[in-house]
Amino acid sequence: MQVEQKVAFDSDLIKKYDKAIPRYTSYPPATEFSTEFTEADYREAIARNNLRQAPLSLYFHIPFCETLCYYCGCNTIITKLKEKVVPPYLKYLFTEIERVSPLIDRNRTVNQLHWGGGTPNYLNAPQVESLWNKIQEHYTFEDNAEISLEVNPEHLDKNYVLFLRSLGFNRISFGVQDFNPKVQEAINRVQPEKMLFDAMDWMRSAGFEGVNIDLIYGLPYQNLETFRETIQKVIKLNPDRIALFNFAYLPTLRPAQKKFPIESLPQPAEKLAIFQMTIEELAKGGYLFIGMDHFAKPDDELAIAQEKGVLHRNFQGYTTKPESELFAFGVTSVSMLHDIYVQNHKNLKEYYQAIDENRLPIARGVKLTPQDILRRDIIKELMCNFKLKKQAIADKYNLDNFDRYFATELEQLKTLADDGLLTLKADEIEISPIGRLLVRNIAYTFDTHTPLRKDQRFSRSI
Ligand code: SF4
Repeated sequence: MQVEQKVAFDSDLIKKYDKAIPRYTSYPPATEFSTEFTEADYREAIARNNLRQAPLSLYFHIPFCETLCYYCGCNTIITKLKEKVVPPYLKYLFTEIERVSPLIDRNRTVNQLHWGGGTPNYLNAPQVESLWNKIQEHYTFEDNAEISLEVNPEHLDKNYVLFLRSLGFNRISFGVQDFNPKVQEAINRVQPEKMLFDAMDWMRSAGFEGVNIDLIYGLPYQNLETFRETIQKVIKLNPDRIALFNFAYLPTLRPAQKKFPIESLPQPAEKLAIFQMTIEELAKGGYLFIGMDHFAKPDDELAIAQEKGVLHRNFQGYTTKPESELFAFGVTSVSMLHDIYVQNHKNLKEYYQAIDENRLPIARGVKLTPQDILRRDIIKELMCNFKLKKQAIADKYNLDNFDRYFATELEQLKTLADDGLLTLKADEIEISPIGRLLVRNIAYTFDTHTPLRKDQRFSRSI
């Protein structure tokens, strides 16, 4: 079934607006997080947050992987020594849970839980169960809570998948990236087709309510034709949602990317063509384009939320549970409350040391000003729902007049409006189908923290 994709492709405009801009998974961006943010700040923030009585979204980070995918941009620990690394990690993670959880009002219920990594299925079944039980000791889950995890299909079998489902996980995601063997070899992630289809069969027969996959475009040796074949196979695989990530080639920051020759990467024009083809082919396969980089079937709750203009986004991606506050546990993880972001230590030694010293293992964070909260809301509305209703924002934040308050930003947006990226109406800002692919550039107008940088801390907008 073909769906109508409310997005249009203009390669000249995409080239014109090709700048390094934050992805706005947080606002202010993570580059603004500071080590001056202290444990006392975090404790105060949790106490303030309890007064909001919002539901909880919990995240648990398992940082280990058995082998390194050469494209990887995560802060991951590569080792096959599971017996050596997992027991101490869980011991420290449990201590963090025991230390943070009593600070959170016990009456607050969980409507979202996610385990990410690294590779959560690096843990064996008893280890998974022990972490699961530790979480259950401290939190009460809502009946319809979304309980998800990421897995690597290379280390999966049917019993393990059934076990995850029986425990209570109801959503699962795995990385496909690309079906092509040459690409898989170049990125050091060899997943034969049968392995991927078997994994999907097990997840379906286990009764997972949602199975999501990740793809990456712009990888070495990818071209339009090979990736078209990948997309055909993805449609056959029939996931509920697809995340399509843009490969960011940053060899200075991620040295493993030096393992493939720069000439093997698709040129910018081909990469754009791959992106366009993917949007078109997935539309033919019945997938709607969601937000900036996701796809879902029209009856999926993400697609319905986008249609209704109530889609939201947090560190874990797009969500239909806007009201929940995200508490994250484990090395490197980021919590996102109403008025703060706080990140745990990225380095395992420092994470362990903080816990040994009876501290919370936080490394840096930022307290949002009322201005930041207002601008974060605007950026989120633009990036998720492609529309900004001025009066709704003015009412929510007690602004006398939206147009007067944001006169400078509206003036700057005129140039983007002249290029057809958006329409400036009396009562709203509406992003056009062409502007959807450049929504980061539009959101950037409201960002008071980020000067345009020449450095490579942010990826290109497409
Ligand atoms: S499985 Fe994920 S986190 Fe681990 S190396 Fe591969 S891309 Fe990185």
